[in-house]
Amino acid sequence: MITGTTKLLGVIGHPVEHSLSPRMHNAAIAQMGIDYVYLPFPIAPHDLQAALDGFAAIGVVGFSVTIPHKQTIIPLLSEVSSLAQSVGAVNTVVRKDNQWIGTNTDVEGFISPLQSTYNRDWSQTTAVILGNGGAARAVVAGCVQLGCAEIHVIGRNLNKLVAFHESWDNSLRASHLHVHHWDKLPKYIPQANLLVNTTPIGMYPHIDEAPLTSEEMQHLPVGAIAYDLTYNPNPTKFLKLAKLVETVTINGLEMLVQQGAAALKIWLERETVPVDVMRESLIEALSAK
Ligand code: NAP
Repeated sequence: MITGTTKLLGVIGHPVEHSLSPRMHNAAIAQMGIDYVYLPFPIAPHDLQAALDGFAAIGVVGFSVTIPHKQTIIPLLSEVSSLAQSVGAVNTVVRKDNQWIGTNTDVEGFISPLQSTYNRDWSQTTAVILGNGGAARAVVAGCVQLGCAEIHVIGRNLNKLVAFHESWDNSLRASHLHVHHWDKLPKYIPQANLLVNTTPIGMYPHIDEAPLTSEEMQHLPVGAIAYDLTYNPNPTKFLKLAKLVETVTINGLEMLVQQGAAALKIWLERETVPVDVMRESLIEALSAK
């Protein structure tokens, strides 16, 4: 029940109507029985500073950040975690000591299902990442955290690939981060112990599309992991093809759940939040779509 003491959380984006975050966070809030509410805030790009000022005035505790604000909010914050700086994007902001502090929980969201599924040494792993947009940045940072031996990012636009490569620090670029045009993909499929789709190919309503053909998928190494950031549909065609070649699959739903859980822990300053309830609320919301 919302009362005069209810504390505010939310998500800013433009548009934000499609966001599943209110469902997920309010389900967790209800389960914990705490006096909070999580709201969608549609904020146009030119209103971002005004929104931050307004949020400060009304005592917003913290908020999620989605497209198009993940990069543009950075100079407006008092402090940005080193992880968010290296990713170049903020997805979570918290109010502390009258200041806005930004961080990035997408990286934790991405690696969490990998770490919980596989208790293994990643230092022999070659990661191949399809796409070089915003989500690919969190995936690269996640692969660095895991300690992957090599990270190959595959994209369709050479200029954007070069800019992507140049945006990372020198030591990473010199050692194990490489970018390639999509034409070179056949060379990297047989090396891909971890193959991550960060493109929207296969996302609803284009559910019959996949970034690789079934023939290409057959060249994946034994024991490869196929990870699709897309969570609607679940599974995507990419993951269905991966299963046919006996590849282990991970869908984007768990990343969405875990980045949200990590953010909620930050806002509430709690060690645990009801992750199962958050996951169930998303599954329910997606099945109703
Ligand atoms: P983005 O910044 O727009 O990046 C998309 C990337 O995919 C770009 O590199 C784009 O290439 C490439 N791409 C798009 N269509 C392509 C095609 N037909 N062929 C080859 N490459 C193509 O988007 P994003 O924020 O990174 O999000 C990407 C996907 O990840 C979305 O489906 C999103 O829902 C999902 N996602 C999931 C989670 C999660 O928690 N599970 C979190 C974040 C994102 P160009 O730059 O050349 O256009």
